[in-house]
Amino acid sequence: MSELESRQDRAPVPSGWDYAPAPESRDIVTIEERYGLFIGGELVDPRSGEYFPTLSPATEEQLAEVSQAGPEDVDLAVRAARDAYDNGWSSISPAERAKYLFRIARILQERSREFAVLESLNGGKPIRESRDVDLPLSAAHFFYYAGWADKLEYAFPNRRPRSIGVAGQIIPWNFPLLMLAWKIAPALAAGNTVVLKPAETTPLTALLFADIVRQAELPPGVVNIVTGDGRTGVELVKHEGVDKIAFTGSTEVGKAIQRELAGTGKKLTLELGGKAANIVFDDAALDQAVEGIVNGIYFNQGHVCCAGSRLLVQESIYEPLIAKLKRRLTTLRLGDPLDKNTDIGAINSKQQLDRITELVAAGEEEGAEIYQPPCRLPEKGYWFAPTIFTNVAQSYRIAQEEIFGPVLSVLTFRTPDEAVEKANNTAYGLSAGVWTEKGSRILSMAQKLRAGVIWANTFNRFDPTSPFGGFKESGFGREGGLHGLEPYLDLGESEVRGG
Ligand code: NAP
Ligand code: MG
Repeated sequence: MSELESRQDRAPVPSGWDYAPAPESRDIVTIEERYGLFIGGELVDPRSGEYFPTLSPATEEQLAEVSQAGPEDVDLAVRAARDAYDNGWSSISPAERAKYLFRIARILQERSREFAVLESLNGGKPIRESRDVDLPLSAAHFFYYAGWADKLEYAFPNRRPRSIGVAGQIIPWNFPLLMLAWKIAPALAAGNTVVLKPAETTPLTALLFADIVRQAELPPGVVNIVTGDGRTGVELVKHEGVDKIAFTGSTEVGKAIQRELAGTGKKLTLELGGKAANIVFDDAALDQAVEGIVNGIYFNQGHVCCAGSRLLVQESIYEPLIAKLKRRLTTLRLGDPLDKNTDIGAINSKQQLDRITELVAAGEEEGAEIYQPPCRLPEKGYWFAPTIFTNVAQSYRIAQEEIFGPVLSVLTFRTPDEAVEKANNTAYGLSAGVWTEKGSRILSMAQKLRAGVIWANTFNRFDPTSPFGGFKESGFGREGGLHGLEPYLDLGESEVRGG
């Protein structure tokens, strides 16, 4: 600590540096004034006659109006998907299906700048992330599942994998295009058709994806996109023509969907919330761990279901680690999502900002100590400074509830057993991180932690070949990898249905 402090004196954090703005141009994107619904290969006016505005959360500027799909619209979309399934898609050769998926993947790569700019505009995430993470990963998912489309019998030996029909897919606003790719790529590779509902606040990249679907000449109706709020999701879930529901979102809505589907025979996968422990042992490389902690909780403003939102630090390194972490926070740049220097962009919506603000106030009230680096928040738009809470007890709301914002809660432990106990003391079980030099400790922790994904000496790494999903209230079913195909296939054996 003292060494760190003296070094700090000699080399103060360069908080006075001014960076020239480096904005990515918006010109590459054309946004229509108003969008219809993508049904049967066409953008059509909603029968509901209703539209709602979609904004840039960084400026509150209205970007476009999008359709609010009503019951009749959802019904049309499901029929279009059924038609496409029955009359072609389910019977074309798997190698043909693969060709379409490869085509989509390549077009996504070719148009990636356009998509990245639109994703940052509509969602508020830094362009650096949409450009370097969301877009490459979205294309990678299509490439990966294209590879499986004609090899399903090898993927599941001694089984007879068959498609299931029409999949209804509902996604959240934190990774709009990536979640679309996670849902659509395996569904099509397995021979199904889809109706997808993007989140209310981030519909624009899904609507631009409709353009890729047309460009790739996918048969009409194989992919349908219905925009709208939660009511549209409700209609899709209860529609009788849907054979499978794939949902990513909050645990609360996930539970409601599970209740609705009980006894219907529809297949269901749920990817829900999380409250991951990021555990740092005293033998870890501290500077590397600090980068991992920052990436774990401030990536995408903490709007990440698997975010490392609970930092568990071994007591003996608590002080130097927290000192390093606080210094690192002063170098994070918050502001215009389209600026290539930005680390922390806008909070996705007013509603989400209110939720973060409420939970942070609760943390202060319960007695935790708050730290925020000096940083000026823009006047317009929705913003929240990167935040660290120390002195956090396990019972505090900020240690139990998902904040889904740039807020880290720090707890300490003495022994590996205590770390496991605290890490598992949550209703969730989506992910965890372990920082240590010891391989044996990584393996033993990984066995004891009740989480679907466990990162060792890294955090928030994604790869289409690796299955992702939760334990406990984080949901069930896996996306990614071979596991990600299973929910979209009938493997000719009894399976858990309707939850
Ligand atoms: P949400 O309210 O559950 O919304 C998710 C999606 O469901 C949205 O498209 C939403 O529409 C729709 N929806 C809302 N109510 C519905 C209903 N009754 N029936 C059917 N669909 C309904 O969650 P959110 O606030 O958008 O997203 C944040 C949550 O998602 C967090 O808890 C986060 O952990 C979780 N998440 C999990 C994962 C994962 O992979 N496990 C990934 C990302 C996010 P609207 O947009 O109109 O509300
Ligand atoms: Mg919602």
